[in-house]
Amino acid sequence: MSRFGQHAEKHLVGRIGWMRAAVLGANDGIISTASLIVGVAAAAANQSAVLIAGIAGLVAGAMAMAAGEYVSVSSQSDTERADLALERKELRDNPAFELEELAQIYVKRGVDKALARQVAKQLMAKNALGAHARDELGISKITTARPVQAALTSAASFSVGAAMPLLMVVVSPAYALVPMVFAASSGFLALLGAIGARTGGADILRATVRVTFWGALAMALTAGIGKLFGTVI
Ligand SMILES: [Zn+2]
Repeated sequence: MSRFGQHAEKHLVGRIGWMRAAVLGANDGIISTASLIVGVAAAAANQSAVLIAGIAGLVAGAMAMAAGEYVSVSSQSDTERADLALERKELRDNPAFELEELAQIYVKRGVDKALARQVAKQLMAKNALGAHARDELGISKITTARPVQAALTSAASFSVGAAMPLLMVVVSPAYALVPMVFAASSGFLALLGAIGARTGGADILRATVRVTFWGALAMALTAGIGKLFGTVI
């Protein structure tokens, strides 16, 4: 980042895209893997069966996250590309109309008509497509979709999250497995919620309580179901 990027206001919007994906991925990894582990363990499975279920959960979840993120970001990227192609064609076929269109956008934002036209003309002389992409379509460098990067980020962060409850299975004594996984995962979720809120500039306590509540609910639910089926079968 340049020195000018680090001015006093510390804008956070640039970080939100990848950070959101990373925090969501790790959250999902902890919640789904911990719930899976707690459910299988509550059904009175032995430690190695619990570990295998947890590892399978990690791999399945990471792949699902990667696939989901890839598909969703790709379709966004396709839409952006199609919009840009259309815009490029319009700029080539009807530059006068496009100049007026861009000027009108600035007029609507409060710029004088003559000045707006001058600004539009100068911006278009430098980079016509860039100016239209940003101010007409809302496509900037920050929002430009990167499917592979998004897929890898999600899969990696899910795996990191999922590894935490899995580690607890390895280090816990068999009799204390469920409470240890439950407590440690809740702690990890709270920590992650706090970090995410801090990086994103949101309220720390509220974010922490929110994510910990949902995680605890998910684990309690699968533990109950595991217990139920464990005794029935
Ligand atoms: Zn245009």
